[in-house]
Amino acid sequence: NKFTCKNCGGDLIFNPETQSLKCPYCGTENENPDTIPEVHEELDFKEALAKFRNAEDTVEVQIEKCPACGAEVTLEANATTAGCDFCGTSIVAGGKSHKVMKPQYLLPFKITKDEAKKTFREWIQKRKFAPNDLKKQARMAEPLKGIYYPHWTFDADTRSKYSGKRGVHYTRTVEKTDSEGKKYTDTVTETRWTSVSGKVSRFFDDVLVAASHTLKKKLTGKLDEWNLKEMVSFSEKYLKGFKAESYSIDLEEGFSFAKEIMNEEIRSDIRHDIGGDEQEIKRVDTEYSDIKFKYILLPIWVVVYKFKDKYFQVLINGSTER
Ligand SMILES: [Zn+2]
Ligand SMILES: [Zn+2]
Repeated sequence: NKFTCKNCGGDLIFNPETQSLKCPYCGTENENPDTIPEVHEELDFKEALAKFRNAEDTVEVQIEKCPACGAEVTLEANATTAGCDFCGTSIVAGGKSHKVMKPQYLLPFKITKDEAKKTFREWIQKRKFAPNDLKKQARMAEPLKGIYYPHWTFDADTRSKYSGKRGVHYTRTVEKTDSEGKKYTDTVTETRWTSVSGKVSRFFDDVLVAASHTLKKKLTGKLDEWNLKEMVSFSEKYLKGFKAESYSIDLEEGFSFAKEIMNEEIRSDIRHDIGGDEQEIKRVDTEYSDIKFKYILLPIWVVVYKFKDKYFQVLINGSTER
């Protein structure tokens, strides 16, 4: 087994400090860190969908929802029970396994558990509004769990045709009558609308979409300072000592989320293209071509704690100081 210590035979864990496998028993570093920068290859969306149906590069897993905290826990195809990665509640597998792709790349953990713990303690101390109960609960929730969280990244070339209206403001003088019957003049601002149509185009690079429901979307969105250039090819060794989740939001659904993100930017391009003082967008037809994607894992330190029967999550980016 390449994941056992060459010195004492113990199970190795990935050490974020040295980026190599370390034996937690005798302390032996079992491998030199990878220092060669990698070129990241992207897969073609349509090809991958076709290939996926032919079941290449896939693994069988079961994804079960934790009945207590709602986390989506990935179990091996033949597992019957497991503890929830976050709250420890035992989960009985439903026995329905399905195929998932293997991750292509991952961003290794760089922040150690102790560093993450320190960040978490500082965070909880700063919560002035946090009642002492909550602080106590949160402290009890330690230790933190290091999880590789699934994400899709999408590239796409887009061309959009739009139609809408451009509104231009102008002022007009009007005659009014006051309460005493006296006439006076006033100016009012009005909008003159003209119909417009046009085209905009934009290339999107690495639009990031979380591929699971376990972590709250509004929290993962705040961790977005990922340096994806530091990703390495997926290898089991990085997972040692950490948990990894499979995607439960599949490639097609993931792309529909990516489109929402892209469309927001396209609409802003269109408003800019229309110009004027106000814009109305009536219709947008977007063609997406050259769609490429990567299936990646990103490192997140997670604290889940229970407060008044509710589960709360605190997330810490596992690859940068923030
Ligand atoms: Zn050892
Ligand atoms: Zn749970």
